[in-house]
Amino acid sequence: AVTGRTPFIAGNWKMNLDHQQAIAFVQKLHWSLKEAKHVEGSVEVGIFPPFTDLRTVQTLLDADKISFALGAQDLSTKDSGAYTGEVSGAFLAKLNCGYVIVGHSERREYHDETDEVVAAKAQAALRHGLVPVICVGETSEDLEKFGASAVPVGQLEVALEGLPSEADIVVAYEPVWAIGSGQAATPEQAQEVCAKLRDVIAAKLGPDAAQRTRVLYGGSVKSTNIASFMREPDIDGALVGGASLVVGEFAAIVRYQ
Ligand code: PGA
Repeated sequence: AVTGRTPFIAGNWKMNLDHQQAIAFVQKLHWSLKEAKHVEGSVEVGIFPPFTDLRTVQTLLDADKISFALGAQDLSTKDSGAYTGEVSGAFLAKLNCGYVIVGHSERREYHDETDEVVAAKAQAALRHGLVPVICVGETSEDLEKFGASAVPVGQLEVALEGLPSEADIVVAYEPVWAIGSGQAATPEQAQEVCAKLRDVIAAKLGPDAAQRTRVLYGGSVKSTNIASFMREPDIDGALVGGASLVVGEFAAIVRYQ
């Protein structure tokens, strides 16, 4: 589909790869894409390593002129101060992070992040010039009770409340039942929800924002199913977990065309 939106393939490493493993991984991924003559700019490639890797990866991207976007997996709602264990968006911006994931289902589930906390994190990201990758998605119980779109639509409505129309955001639709399960949503079902999420963006931030904002699908994305998602008009990329940790597989996802 001709949308004017640059496809975004984002690798969420979760709690995998320490800073030394990260160096080898990023170099291999870079070589692999270069060898395959992946055209830089046709697809934006993003990597989201653990906090402790960020400085090392930033230095490597800079030194080797590698054009991957860098992002963190979470940030504090606060900007600085007595918040033991928290990491500020200001620190991430200093490390040349362009993005930060907020509201991943694993944060919502294991760290009790509410829709309001996720909204505060999206605002914290924007205060520091970071693009929040706002994750929404229904559990299998939600799916049974309310269908696929009600819960993610509600989550996104809260996350976008009060954001300015020019806010630069990415939205990721990740059905919880599809994450790490090997059971991806069908492209048709993902498209249906992503279209509804784009309607939420239009309602909250206006039609221009809806047109320019990238909506990603996430949940058991692999090299063998990525193309079917990318054919859908409202799916502009993927948030990839497990398959982003295997160089050849992630490179193949980036080269989905
Ligand atoms: P998965 O994870 O690709 O391993 O299903 C996706 C995610 O949690 O972002």
